[in-house]
Amino acid sequence: MPDGKACREPMRPSVFVSRGHLGSSCSRTDETRASQHSPGHRNAVTQTQLQIEKDIFGDAVAVNNGRVTVSRPDVLAGERMDTLVRAAVFGQGAEKEYARWLIWEIGQTVGVRPGSIHDLYMARGAGKIGGFTVPAINVRGMSYDTARSIFRTAIRQRAGAFILEIARSEIAYTDQRPSEYVAVMLAAALREGFRGPVFIQGDHFQVNHKKFAAARDPEVKAVKELITEAVSAGFYNIDIDTSTLVDLKHESLEEQQRLNYEVGIELLRHVRAAEPPGVTISVGGEIGEVGTENSTEEELRAYMDGFNRTLEKHARRMIGLSKISVQSGTSHGGTVLADGKIADVKLDLDTLERLSKVARDEYGLAGAVQHGASTLPDTAFNNFPKRETAEIHLATNFQSMLYDYCPRELREEIYGWLREHAKDERKDKDSDEQFFYKTRKKALGPFKRRFWDLPVKVKQELASAYDAKFEFLFAQLGIGDTAKHVAEYVKTPALHPRTAGEMAAVQAAPDDASLSD
Ligand SMILES: [Zn+2]
Repeated sequence: MPDGKACREPMRPSVFVSRGHLGSSCSRTDETRASQHSPGHRNAVTQTQLQIEKDIFGDAVAVNNGRVTVSRPDVLAGERMDTLVRAAVFGQGAEKEYARWLIWEIGQTVGVRPGSIHDLYMARGAGKIGGFTVPAINVRGMSYDTARSIFRTAIRQRAGAFILEIARSEIAYTDQRPSEYVAVMLAAALREGFRGPVFIQGDHFQVNHKKFAAARDPEVKAVKELITEAVSAGFYNIDIDTSTLVDLKHESLEEQQRLNYEVGIELLRHVRAAEPPGVTISVGGEIGEVGTENSTEEELRAYMDGFNRTLEKHARRMIGLSKISVQSGTSHGGTVLADGKIADVKLDLDTLERLSKVARDEYGLAGAVQHGASTLPDTAFNNFPKRETAEIHLATNFQSMLYDYCPRELREEIYGWLREHAKDERKDKDSDEQFFYKTRKKALGPFKRRFWDLPVKVKQELASAYDAKFEFLFAQLGIGDTAKHVAEYVKTPALHPRTAGEMAAVQAAPDDASLSD
């Protein structure tokens, strides 16, 4: 495929090329030929085969030679976007891939581009900005509607510093591959008329320590494959999580953290090699297994010193981490009691504040990150910006709201499914409340379409509830008016995937639903 090959940028594993590479030499014919000749491209599409932009947007959006022009941007923020995003999620083969490509290209054209929060975090580490805590929201179920609520709230509060994320485990059990997730998040932003960088993050790109102990290389390779897949899709923020490899058997903190930073660096180098032109991906490290003992300053230093020293030795001048996840008292999902209530959490804010300060002052990072925050009481959240916490992760509470508003018949059907399909996860002492609370995330993938298809009335009730929740959280976390910081520090170069078929050709990485979220 000589013609198709001419369009490829050598030595770069990502599917993206900078604008210059998609000039006139890459005609439609070239793309067609490249698609037809590449393996695994049976569903590859070209603009001549598919014109769903015309069917959906009429003459408001045009595609010529792989370039999108939008003559009436207002049309994007309407019901036609709902049609396009459905094709991107539930469409078949070529139609689905083309819809994802079209959403990406429309976003590139009007200024809704996936971005890296790295430079904003560096500015924070340098003391130029502060006083807010970035919420990283794990969008699991009814993702388009949930994300729409997030962008609506962001527009109202002029917020720019917020992250949409999905963990390695969640990709598996919510049935959302990175390319689908990116399409849905961008479509939600476009639907609400949001403009600016969209920070999409891979959360807990985690090494499974049991699999690692059995066979190191295949497990590290699986995480690398996920990084390749996610970066190709538009994830420019990644939390590598090798904290599962911390070994408390060793006496010195240095030895305890050694595998954590050594494998962490191996993954960081893989991230840097996969970066598209002009993008420095924000990479987070993690020291404390969330739900276990609280982290200490000494642990943070042992990890960061080991990380930086080793990185310097093996890859001089490579850009390192932007933030660090620690443990200060929360647990993923919260701890559910037998009656279904969530146990109170003893959040150690002093520890969190000290760790953030050490991370900023001694290592130039944005600060500390706390996971498992969504189930904290409402009164807890305004402490995070006061204590200069860089970022918190919010997941389970939004899922709880989804189930609270879910029509009873559907919930019963899902619980029946869980009794059968999640019975292995049931502990003898679990009440029904505890069992369903802990396992119902696993139904989000199998019932994805049913959640998307909830009756309009239910969706409207959920939308109001989500709006109120995000309004509250964004205000408590102090991220109102952060769009100006994002505009100042974050640049998003134009990035164009070659064709829909090539976007689709990136292989899905091996799944593991048992990891942290
Ligand atoms: Zn987490």
